[in-house]
Amino acid sequence: MRHKIYCPVCQVSFLHRGAVKRGDTVICTACGAELEVTATEPEVVAGRAALEPEKEIRDRVENFARLRDYTFNEDKELVIEGLISKNELYGDFYCPCRFDNIPENVCPCLDTRMNEVKKQGHCL
Ligand SMILES: [Zn+2]
Repeated sequence: MRHKIYCPVCQVSFLHRGAVKRGDTVICTACGAELEVTATEPEVVAGRAALEPEKEIRDRVENFARLRDYTFNEDKELVIEGLISKNELYGDFYCPCRFDNIPENVCPCLDTRMNEVKKQGHCL
């Protein structure tokens, strides 16, 4: 069974295989966000899982790296700290390497989701 689920983090829909029920956790295949299923009829709806912020962003970047088969460089902890700080200051995990706190820059940012790492060997 396949469900099309909209991800409120990266604002695209992804296909989830397998049965889902309310309260299940699903991982967005586009950004790695952990989402909690809030409804299944007439369609599957999921929202950001209620996680402690540091766990939320760590899980997300780990999931994303695993989905894309990426490895972290030595800046990982610095970037995680920057993301936590941006979330505290601006209310979401905007990329600490980018100036604009806009939806496209929520980690993993749009360029990264659009394969910037594959093209350049690293994100910004
Ligand atoms: Zn997503």
